[in-house]
Order: sequence, then C-alpha cells, then structure tokens
Amino acid sequence: MILKQFTIGSLENNNYLLIDEKTKEAVLIDCTQECEDIENTLKEYNATLKYILLTHGHFDHILGINGFKHKYPDCKVLVHGGDKMLMDKVEEFVKSFGINEAQIQEIDGYVEDNQIIKFGENEIKVIHTPGHTKGGVCYLIGDKLFSGDTLFYESVGRTDLPDGHFGQIKSSIEERLFKLDDNIQVYAGHGPSTTIGHEKINNKFL
Ligand SMILES: [Zn+2]
Repeated sequence: MILKQFTIGSLENNNYLLIDEKTKEAVLIDCTQECEDIENTLKEYNATLKYILLTHGHFDHILGINGFKHKYPDCKVLVHGGDKMLMDKVEEFVKSFGINEAQIQEIDGYVEDNQIIKFGENEIKVIHTPGHTKGGVCYLIGDKLFSGDTLFYESVGRTDLPDGHFGQIKSSIEERLFKLDDNIQVYAGHGPSTTIGHEKINNKFL
C-alpha cells in the first residue's frame, strides 16, 4: 500500500492518501480542501478514489468534499453519525474561526465502532474515539493508525469546542488506542507522526 501525506490549509491539516498497488483503489483520510497535488497523485498512479473517510466533522477536515465528489462522483464519503450535527452546522461553526462562508458537505454514509472497511487487499478498522468531538474516530490499517484530532505527537486534541470532553478523550486514548501495539505508527490530523509506544511514555496530557 502506498501512503502519501499532504499538509493543507491555514491550520496545516494532514490529509492522507492510501493507494492499493494491485487494484489501484484509493482512500483519502480527511478532506480539508480541493487539492491539485492529491488529484495529480491519483492520476500518477492511475488510481480510483473509492472512499473519503473522515476522522471527524470539524470544518478544517471536511470542506473539500463537495469539490472532490464533483470530480470523483463514485467515491463514498463516510463519517461517524455522532458528528452529523456538527457537519450540518458548519456555516455557524466556521464563523467562530473568522471564516465567513462554508458550504454543507455531502455525506454518503456512516461508520460505526469496530466496522471493517475493505479497499483493495486492505482492511480498515474503525475505532470510535469520542472526546475531541462526539463522532471522532481513528482508522487502523495494518500497523498504521490515522488518529485525526484525537491523538497528536506528545499531545491530544482540544476539548474546549462544542461536543468536546476531556474525560472522554482521555479514556478513548487510554482504553482504546493504548491497547494497540507499541510499534503502531500514528498519523495525526495535525503535526508530525508518532507511535503508540512513544505516546504511552511521553504524552503529558494523559
Ligand atoms: Zn478537529
């Protein structure tokens, strides 16, 4: 599986593109905005975008969806149902960040805890990790975890926004993510990547 990272937008979000080399199916994790580099990478590998998987519904992870759906109409956009309300209220939400306009983004379906999503020869496991938002999830693929804004390098996602809850994010990380192998590589929604083992020792927020 090919993994490409794109750091996009004013909040420096990490979007991750996964491509199965055999079937040429691709999955995009989070969709900050339309991005030529992502489109060019899909072209370069002759890959078909099958899913856009959202780690959560905050505006800086979702506002490229409608643009991508326009270009890749067969791709399915999935999010946890706990963040539907957040996505429906995106216009209101962005105003508190000084952004005037944001369109509601089109969703095709919802993921649930422990669900397995197949793409190519890979299996993606959904791990529901509320705390940063109600419907925050991480996606586990082999030895790679895409942690959204739940777990960062030596930090955790903020819990002061609507639907945030520190006790919840703490237990999501300690009871779900820290049960994974220490050598799992963690690819966060912002900032550098890390490992589960490194965070168990060095994360001062827990
Ligand atoms: Zn967020």
